[in-house]
Amino acid sequence: VKFVYDFTEGNKDLKDLLGGKGANLAEMTNLGLPVPPGFTITTEACKVYLDSGDEPPALRDEVSAHLDALEQRMGKKLGQADDPLLVSVRSGAKFSMPGMMDTVLNIGLSDKSVQGLAKQAGDDRFAWDSYRRLIQMFGKTVLGVDGDLFEEALEAAKTAKKVAVDTELEAADLKKLVTKFKKIVKTEAGRDFPQDPREQMDLAIHAVFDSWNTDRAKLYRRQERIPGDLGTAVNVCSMVFGNLGPDSGTGVAFTRDPASGHQGVYGDYLQNAQGEDVVAGIRNTVPLAELEAIDKKSYDQLMQIMETLENHYKDLCDIEFTIERGQLWMLQTRVGKRTAGAAFRIATQLVDQGLIDEAEALQRVTGAQLAQLMFPRFDEDAKVEKVGRGIAASPGAAVGKAVFDSYTAVKWSRSGEKVILVRRETNPDDLDGMIAAEGILTSRGGKTSHAAVVARGMGKTCVCGAEELEVDTKRRRMTVPGGHVVEEGDLISIDGSSGKVYLGEVPVVPSPVVEYFEGRMHAGANDADELVEAVHRIMAFADRKRRLRVRANADNAEDALRARRFGAQGIGLCRTEHMFLGDRRELVERLILADTEAEREESLKALLPLQKKDFVELFSAMDGLPVTVRLLDPPLHEFLPDITELSVRVALAESRQEPHENELRLLQAVHRLHEQNPMLGLRGVRLGLVIPGLFTMQVRAIAEAAAERKAAKGDPRAEIMIPLVGTVQELEIVREEADQVVAEVEAATGTELKLAIGTMIELPRAALTAGQIAEAAEFFSFGTNDLTQTVWGFSRDDVEASFFTAYLEKGIFGVSPFETIDKDGVGSLVKLAAEAGRATRPDLKLGVCGEHGGDPESVHFFHEVGLDYVSCSPFRIPVARLEAGRAAS
Ligand code: ADP
Ligand code: MG
Ligand code: MG
Repeated sequence: VKFVYDFTEGNKDLKDLLGGKGANLAEMTNLGLPVPPGFTITTEACKVYLDSGDEPPALRDEVSAHLDALEQRMGKKLGQADDPLLVSVRSGAKFSMPGMMDTVLNIGLSDKSVQGLAKQAGDDRFAWDSYRRLIQMFGKTVLGVDGDLFEEALEAAKTAKKVAVDTELEAADLKKLVTKFKKIVKTEAGRDFPQDPREQMDLAIHAVFDSWNTDRAKLYRRQERIPGDLGTAVNVCSMVFGNLGPDSGTGVAFTRDPASGHQGVYGDYLQNAQGEDVVAGIRNTVPLAELEAIDKKSYDQLMQIMETLENHYKDLCDIEFTIERGQLWMLQTRVGKRTAGAAFRIATQLVDQGLIDEAEALQRVTGAQLAQLMFPRFDEDAKVEKVGRGIAASPGAAVGKAVFDSYTAVKWSRSGEKVILVRRETNPDDLDGMIAAEGILTSRGGKTSHAAVVARGMGKTCVCGAEELEVDTKRRRMTVPGGHVVEEGDLISIDGSSGKVYLGEVPVVPSPVVEYFEGRMHAGANDADELVEAVHRIMAFADRKRRLRVRANADNAEDALRARRFGAQGIGLCRTEHMFLGDRRELVERLILADTEAEREESLKALLPLQKKDFVELFSAMDGLPVTVRLLDPPLHEFLPDITELSVRVALAESRQEPHENELRLLQAVHRLHEQNPMLGLRGVRLGLVIPGLFTMQVRAIAEAAAERKAAKGDPRAEIMIPLVGTVQELEIVREEADQVVAEVEAATGTELKLAIGTMIELPRAALTAGQIAEAAEFFSFGTNDLTQTVWGFSRDDVEASFFTAYLEKGIFGVSPFETIDKDGVGSLVKLAAEAGRATRPDLKLGVCGEHGGDPESVHFFHEVGLDYVSCSPFRIPVARLEAGRAAS
């Protein structure tokens, strides 16, 4: 194998092997852009080094050969005494890990060659400045010396000289500083700073390899879900100098604004500076536009190059460049990070420029970005006091009074207060408080911490791992940087999309994107409208491309109408249990307590018109679109009072000698219906089979509602769905009764209803016998929430807060299987059942309801296995539409 590639040998598609930086340096070289020559050592070499503790045997010779070639080309040798070639040794992994890995500049300088450099450049100051930088960087990153020691020595030199910035230090000062730095190295590292240039280079290469496995790099990768075994490439790049005086400098730039997407000149420039100086903030940079006045030739060339890069990458790029005595050099480029809003804008801008087509535009945005744009957010114009920043764990903008324990969170929220639960970290005991709070803030833990996982599951705003905040739960207070103390009850605001934490109440504004979906905002001229316009167009691209239809989970007319505005093409899941709550609970209680046939029939009769009315409203809200109504699913005891509460009521009545016959009967019923494991108990189709008249009442309500809508010249498209079927026999029995009721209603009203009857596939047995079940079902809807529970054998309510964090940390899950479908397990059952079902009944309609229907990755999976539609909560519909479009393009 080949471990070293010259910049002329690589290209941008070799990121796995050459890392992002190396691949793009090669790409720019081949585009003919001015890149200082160099070569890249592959990630494969790094992997061998990390696995075996030593570099691959062939590496040394290969590096020598490439170094020779580089020296030939540059006409000087590495570290050559009278005219040294200098290089940088730069890390560069496949995915950028900002600030995580190491780079060393000016390799090749020594006590001897520093003189040569000075003579060649005709500038002593420059040479000694470069040398002190080398010892500083090398000392810190290669020899592990505490960087502060060098910083302090530099500060001391400035103070002694009474100057503010390092450019005011003269050659003699820097020379002294070099002596000081060398001493620091000697004492701290127990060895001399190496004078042999090749030794410098080899040690730096090893240090870059090693930097892959520092704690902070590992932590970062875990949080960003970057695999730990990729390794980093190492780029050896001949040095160019921005610290050669006022006609030199270094800068960073974007080819367009990463916040808005607007084209223009965005970036920063710093005269007489090297490398990191720009971002390190040691001296004030000037806006890139000012480079035009400083060095018009380089400026014009840079603008030209930025255009070349945009046209070539067909995307926003960010770049690093250096100007050495009026000569421009490109040191890095990559497709730049951008905000969610800019991603949509840039995608449409690039379409308008003719650089990409609609299908490609869809690949430039994600459902997660769209979801981010749909959260309400803090008013950007508001005056805010930012006091910390943690990890953006679960998006949203939350404002509330700080509370430091779960108990207080629950108590205060019951009395109508909005609270933010602040903890060092959360554990399962905090669950009640997390539910009660507007948002959750922790000072420890990353994206897979308990707080983050649970908050995301609940759709609750969460910032975690805000380490600058000192949380003292015992004293119910938190200290923010600068010493200000937030006491229990003080207002704070947290932004789960950016991870920022603010003091006080930051005003929240609704998302313009939601306003647009709601039909309250249209594209126009101002800034928010530009975003809306972009979203509007991207959604149109997605709708044109997608094959999957998107339906909503909605139980009432209001949700249905909103879903329709958001683009729902029907209702995939109407849960009828919500129609059994409120004032109707009493009727349901009567039904459960009925001793005689007559009593039961009477309570069912009372429920019938109420259900029917709900359906009439729903069908008219969704006129012309399919509405899948699921018959009653949850165990009946869910409709009865809580057992402790009831026992207390009975005991109280007893002691007061008040009549309590009804309570007693209820209590008996609760005991009778009590189940060890309700999730696997009397629910779903089983209810329909053991409680005579229940399902037929519901079917009658649906049929009569449909007939009424027809009579009113409406177009109802009801579908009846039987939950929790495990075998075709269950379905056949229920179906026969249902068919009969429908026939009766048809006869009585003189209308033909054509109600489809189908089932949910949410038990492994149903999936495994889907071919048989399809004999009795006109459609399948995969209930992937229950299917995940039953395939894995765990109940969501119990496990998410208990062992999921551990599983995520150990890498057993990449993500909760309730968030993204487990393709290998649950997913293969879906695939199998879909195929078997269609084999029996080619026109079988296939959909999915359950949270996965709105999850980007899952939507792609459902597209691939050929389902007809996904159904999700109204707010997720735009995300599902977009992802369905992306999946198809
Ligand atoms: P990072 O990945 O942290 O940006 P880089 O490898 O890009 O690290 O280098 C750090 C800084 O040094 C950057 O500003 C870069 O432009 C600069 N730099 C790297 N190599 C050279 C070189 N050969 N000549 C001049 N400056 C360089
Ligand atoms: Mg860089
Ligand atoms: Mg279910």
